[in-house]
Amino acid sequence: MSLINPQAPILVTGASGYVAGWIVKKLLEAGHTVHATVRDPNKASSVAHLQKVADASTGTLKLFKADLLDVGAFAEPMIGCELVIHTASPFLVTGFKDANEALVRPALEGTRNVLQSVNATDSVRRVVLTSSVAATFGDNWDARDVPGNRLDETFWNTTSSVDHQPYLYSKTVAEQEAWAMQKTQSRWDLVCINPGLVMGPALTTNSISASITTLQQFGDGTLAMGAPCMWNGLVDVRDVADAHIIAGFKPEANGRYILCAESLTLLDMAAALRAHFGSKYPFPRMTVPKILFWLVSPFYGYTRDFVWRNMGWPIHFNNARSREGLGIQYRDVRQSVCEHFQQLIDDGLVKRRD
Ligand code: NAP
Repeated sequence: MSLINPQAPILVTGASGYVAGWIVKKLLEAGHTVHATVRDPNKASSVAHLQKVADASTGTLKLFKADLLDVGAFAEPMIGCELVIHTASPFLVTGFKDANEALVRPALEGTRNVLQSVNATDSVRRVVLTSSVAATFGDNWDARDVPGNRLDETFWNTTSSVDHQPYLYSKTVAEQEAWAMQKTQSRWDLVCINPGLVMGPALTTNSISASITTLQQFGDGTLAMGAPCMWNGLVDVRDVADAHIIAGFKPEANGRYILCAESLTLLDMAAALRAHFGSKYPFPRMTVPKILFWLVSPFYGYTRDFVWRNMGWPIHFNNARSREGLGIQYRDVRQSVCEHFQQLIDDGLVKRRD
């Protein structure tokens, strides 16, 4: 149980990211001093939105350069911090050649690197790690024998590997490493936030988060002929940011917190988008038969194993711990999806159709 001094600076790693942007904004608006690490503080597209938020807030923003794989890079930004919020980790589902280099090394070695600095920084009392529901299951198929297909924080992903579902594997081994390192000492405690697929407006147009690329497919015609039958647990980005901050400051917060409002299929998301935007965008109207998608999946960057173990298998998440322990009152994710899509249109990331 840790009591964090709100006057002490708070370290947020990966501050340029989609999720971190909202965490930094909410911290600055509450008047905190944020030590924000980014890979390139001189890259305007990574930091301009953070600077804008800082200028309009009562908080103080200090930018630091830190790469996850640069050993010791987090030592200087961590000086004086009692709370460390570690969000930095690549979120890519397709489009990479070497899964180990693109995902697993930065997630695992990066977490180790950040926590080695935590061990060396006497002021730190609590670490909040952005994990994922990905650390609770590998394929939707894994939940087939669980009552209601509903997973909670007691579940761990035991089926992903660097060759199969490498993003999910990267989040699992990173969270496991964090728990292992935490248990070797008693000065700092660890709270993990395990969000589902995050939706809702971004503060940056620079992120390549799979949250954004997933939603872009509803506007660029990729799903025009139909959507695979795929369930995702969804949560609004502002709820995720609130959870990180509450988990950081609430002394009794502990363990893992699944963050998920509701599970929707891609067709459910399309229906919400059609109800809001009408039929001018190529939102899918039908489910692609699994066998058809299985045949063509390699052309879309998915393995046939992935299709077999994920399409058509419902998955749900028990969010009681986050509601009762952190007091999260979930936003309607259908609304989050629509707000996010509108923003992609406004930012030119989805072609406007009038
Ligand atoms: P994002 O916008 O792509 O943010 C990822 C962040 O990680 C970026 O700030 C990126 O920095 C940083 N990063 C990547 N590789 C790095 C490296 N080698 N060194 C330093 N920083 C590095 O994605 P996001 O959706 O916000 O994801 C943020 C966190 O939430 C991740 O831990 C992700 O696994 C987790 N999460 C996301 C979702 C979701 O649906 N979005 C769901 C569950 C969990 P650059 O700007 O320099 O690239």
